[in-house]
Amino acid sequence: MKKFVLAAIGLTLAGVAAPSAAETPPHRTQAPGFYRMMVGEFEVTALSDGIADQPMDKLLTRIAPAELERLAKRRFLTFPVETSINAFLVNTGTSLVLVDSGAGGAFGPAAGRLARNLAAAGYRPDQVDAVLITHLHSDHSGGLAAEGKRLFPNATIYAHAREVAHWLSPDEERKAPEGMKGLFAAARAALGPYQDAGKLRTFADAVDIVPGVRAEPTPGHTPGHAVYAIESKGERMNFWGDLIHVADIQFAAPGIAILYDTDQDAAIGQRAAAFRDAADKSYWVAAPHIAFPGIGRLRAEGQAYDWVPAAYSLKGLTP
Ligand SMILES: [Zn+2]
Repeated sequence: MKKFVLAAIGLTLAGVAAPSAAETPPHRTQAPGFYRMMVGEFEVTALSDGIADQPMDKLLTRIAPAELERLAKRRFLTFPVETSINAFLVNTGTSLVLVDSGAGGAFGPAAGRLARNLAAAGYRPDQVDAVLITHLHSDHSGGLAAEGKRLFPNATIYAHAREVAHWLSPDEERKAPEGMKGLFAAARAALGPYQDAGKLRTFADAVDIVPGVRAEPTPGHTPGHAVYAIESKGERMNFWGDLIHVADIQFAAPGIAILYDTDQDAAIGQRAAAFRDAADKSYWVAAPHIAFPGIGRLRAEGQAYDWVPAAYSLKGLTP
C-alpha cells in the first residue's frame, strides 16, 4: 500500500496524472436552503424559498435618492437588490407549524423552492398541521396551493380576518391600482382550496394559535398584516413578515417605507415599535426578506439599529 501511494505521488510530481482543477466543470448551484436552531424546546427551521431581484431604488420611499445611494454604498448594496424569500417551520413537539409559504410559481425559477428545501430539511408537506400567514402578498402565500390543490393537505391556514376580507373582496380589487390587481387573483388561488375544504381560520385580536405560538396583529404593510411569536422555556422568537424589506437600508433608517405598503405611516409605526421591542428584550427575530436564514437579534444604536445575525451553531442539535 505504502509503495503504491509513493508511486502515485511520484507520478503526480512528474506531471503525468491528475487532471488540472480548471478542467473540472463547476456546479454553480447553491447548497440546500435550510438552517436550524432551537428556541427553548421548539425546533425552528428556516427554509429558503429562493431569491427575487427587487428594484429597491424605485420601490423605497421617503428617502432622497442621494441619501439612498449613500446608505447603499456603505453596505456594498447594488440595485436591483437580490432579496431573500424565507419561510420558517416550527416544531413545538406537539404541532408542526409553518410561518408563510414562499412564492410558489409567482416569482420565477429563482424562487418557489420551499418544497424542495422542506424535503432537504427532513419534513413532508403532509406533516404540517398549520400554516400561519403574515399577509397575503404572493411571496408569502403563493406556495400554499397549485392548480387548485392544497400543497399542505393536512394543514389549517391562519390569517387575520381583515387580511382575508381585503384580498378576497371584489370591491377592493376593483378599487386597486392596475398594477396591484394581480395580487387579488393570487390570494384567491392560494386560499380558495383551503376555504373550500373548511381549512381556513381567521383571528381578529392577538390570540394563541397552539400552545407557545401567538398571533399579534400589526396592520400597516397590509390591512391585516400579523406577526407571530413563539415562546419556549423563557426564549422567544418573533416572525416579522414584511415589517422590514431591506436590512441594509432600513436598520440604518427605519423611517423609510416601500411602495408595497398599503398604509406607509402605519407600516413605519409598526416597524419602529417592533425594532424597539426586539432591541429592548433581545429576543430572536425571523424575517422573510433579510438575507437567508433571516434570523438574528437587534441592538439599538441611537436612532438606528444594528442587526446581529444568528451564527452557524449546533447548540441543542445532534452533531
Ligand atoms: Zn408584503
